[in-house]
Amino acid sequence: METGISDSKILQFLSGKGPDEELFAEADRIRRENYGDAVYLRGLIEFTNYCKNNCYYCGIRAGNTRLDRYRLDQETILECCRTGYALGFRTFVLQGGEDPFFTDDRLCGIVSEIHGRYPDCAITLSVGERSRESYQRLFNAGARRYLLRHEAASADLYRTLHPAEMILANRKRCLYDLKEIGYQVGAGLMVGAPGQTLEHLIEDLHFLQRLQPDMIGIGPYLRHADTPLGRSSASCAQGLEKSQKLQLTLRLLAVLRIMFPYALIPATTALGTIEHNGRELGLKAGANVVMPNLSPVDVREQYELYDNKICTGEESAQCRSCLELRVMSAGYRIVTDIGDVKCH
Ligand code: SAM
Repeated sequence: METGISDSKILQFLSGKGPDEELFAEADRIRRENYGDAVYLRGLIEFTNYCKNNCYYCGIRAGNTRLDRYRLDQETILECCRTGYALGFRTFVLQGGEDPFFTDDRLCGIVSEIHGRYPDCAITLSVGERSRESYQRLFNAGARRYLLRHEAASADLYRTLHPAEMILANRKRCLYDLKEIGYQVGAGLMVGAPGQTLEHLIEDLHFLQRLQPDMIGIGPYLRHADTPLGRSSASCAQGLEKSQKLQLTLRLLAVLRIMFPYALIPATTALGTIEHNGRELGLKAGANVVMPNLSPVDVREQYELYDNKICTGEESAQCRSCLELRVMSAGYRIVTDIGDVKCH
């Protein structure tokens, strides 16, 4: 690797032989060198929990019949943006399952309406795998950023996490299409997914180095009881313990910051779910983005990717001020500008 950090050094850090203090101090130094103490705000709008896919880990998978499904209409999405704008948000992240209801025409209509009303804001989409033409149309409508975790760069691991009709090569193709079109692109993965080894994570890092994403989203894998992996991990206790998963996520965040100094890296909701101050720890390990929830409170619980997801009962303003306090307590500062990626 050309990062000045070798695979063997990364393995040493990830396995906890670090030492951790050295790793986290170096990550924080690099983050401050590139971004100072700034933490960027992204307003998350979880606009549909319908999904045609059946990822073995995900609570909103099509096969989960115990879930009440919802989709927000255009007016409600615009209302979320209006609230968010008044609270200082300048990025709206529209995330959802792969919901066929949101055809290109429908989604482009929503994107161009938001873009028209809030031209000073960035629109980020996170709606899964689509055709290149679809990504191009959404870009033309005003979307500029796209989050699509690659989930696992190893085809073998990917296969154990997804059904046969989901193909890693297609996911990678989507990421490269998005980049070529001109999106700022985010990839990423779940840490501690069943079957994942440190060698798999090295493969992920190699893939990310080739892709050179602008954003990298990682968070711990968390069990959802009504999923195939959730059911099997309950019975045979596969995977890492909670504290191991937290530590490994923090170490990987720090390694990512060292390898990708310019990247926008969120302290995710999953990190705050696995540990009450997980997001603060994530910021100290190199993360520089937080994503408060702007979705209407009455649907929050239904966007249940994993058990015990936090922030399901709070109004948007509460979510924002809670996160502002958390960011301050970690020693950083929320900034409300659009927060584009720095040059690679
Ligand atoms: N459908 C879009 C996609 O595929 O990118 C966006 C929605 S998807 C639910 C967002 C992310 O949630 C996934 O990329 C996955 O990494 C994460 N996720 C799903 N189930 C999870 C779980 N049980 N634990 C932690 N993260 C999970």
